Amino acid sequence: MIDKINQLKAEVESLTAATHEKAEELRIKYLSKKGEITSLFNAFREVPNDQKRQVGQLLNELKEAATAKINELKESLENSASAGSETDLTRSADPILLGTRHPLSIVKNEIVDIFARIGFTIAEGPEVEDDWHVFGALNFPPEHPARDMQDTFFIEKDPDVLLRTHTSSVQSRVMLNQQPPIRVICPGRVYRNEAISYRAHCFFHQVEGLYIDKNVSFADLKQALLYFAKEMFGEDTKIRLRPSYFPFTEPSAEMDISCNLCHGEGCPFCKYTGWVEILGCGMVDPNVLEACGIDSKVYSGYAFGMGIERITNLKYQVKDLRMFSENDVRFLRQFESAN
Ligand SMILES: [Zn+2]
Repeated sequence: MIDKINQLKAEVESLTAATHEKAEELRIKYLSKKGEITSLFNAFREVPNDQKRQVGQLLNELKEAATAKINELKESLENSASAGSETDLTRSADPILLGTRHPLSIVKNEIVDIFARIGFTIAEGPEVEDDWHVFGALNFPPEHPARDMQDTFFIEKDPDVLLRTHTSSVQSRVMLNQQPPIRVICPGRVYRNEAISYRAHCFFHQVEGLYIDKNVSFADLKQALLYFAKEMFGEDTKIRLRPSYFPFTEPSAEMDISCNLCHGEGCPFCKYTGWVEILGCGMVDPNVLEACGIDSKVYSGYAFGMGIERITNLKYQVKDLRMFSENDVRFLRQFESAN
C-alpha cells in the first residue's frame, strides 16, 4: 500500500498535459469516483490498524499533491491560451491622427487676436440677409452696381433676401442695436456671384472692423492699421494709404503693405512695385451713421475690411484660391506647425 502511494506520488509529480482536455482526463484518472487515488481510499479500510495513521497521512498528502498538480496544469494552460489569442492586451493603442486647423481659421484667429489686444470685440450676424442691412443702411444708392444680379446671389425678390456680399451687414446690425462707443470686429463668410478661378471664388471670408466714438479721426484709423500690419507681418512692415471710393466711407482708402517677400525691392508677387494691397478702409460716412440711428454731429468713426484669403495668401503664398475649399488633406496638413 505504501509502495503504491509512493509510486503514484512520483507519477503525479511528473504529470504533463498539452491541452485542457488532457488535464481533465488526468483528473478523472486519479481523482474521480473511480480514480486511482480514490480507489486507494476505498482500500484504506483493509489497512491494519497499527498502520492506519501513517498510511492515512500519506494518502491525504498524495490527494493534495495530485489536486494541486492538476489545477496548476489547468491554470497554466488557460494563461497560455489567452496569450496566444488575437487580442494582445499589452499592445499600445493605435495612434489617433489629429486633424489640423484650416489655414483660413488660423489666419482669422490671428487677425481677431491682434484687434482684441486693442479693445475690439467680435460681432457676428446671419449669412442670409435682407437688402437693408447689406446695402440700404450702408449708403448704397438703389442703382449701385454691387446690387446687380451679376454680383449678388438673391434668394427672394421684393422684399429682397440675399446672401451677404460683405460682413458690413453685421456692422449695420450692431449700429442699429447699440449706441457708441462701438468697437467691433466682424469675421465671416460672404458670397458673390463670380466665376470660380485660381483668384476668385463664389464665396470667401472677410474680417471687417468698426470703431465709433466721439472725436475718432483718420489718424486713429491709420495707427490701428499700422499696428495690425506690424503684428501680422513683422515689425519692419510699412503701410501706405491710397485714396479710393466705397459707398459707406468718406474719405476712403486702400491700404498696401510693403511686400513681405522682397521687402520692397520688387518681385513677381508684388508685380515689381514693392507693395501689395491688403485692405480697404475709411471714415464712416455720416449718412451711414444717421441711417443706423447714430447722431453724426456727435460721433464719428472708422471702418475697414479685408479678405482672409488675401491675408492667408500673403502669409503662406497659397497660389490657388480654390485650394482652401477642396478639403485636400495633403494641402491642409502643411499647416500643422502653424497651429
Ligand atoms: Zn515683392
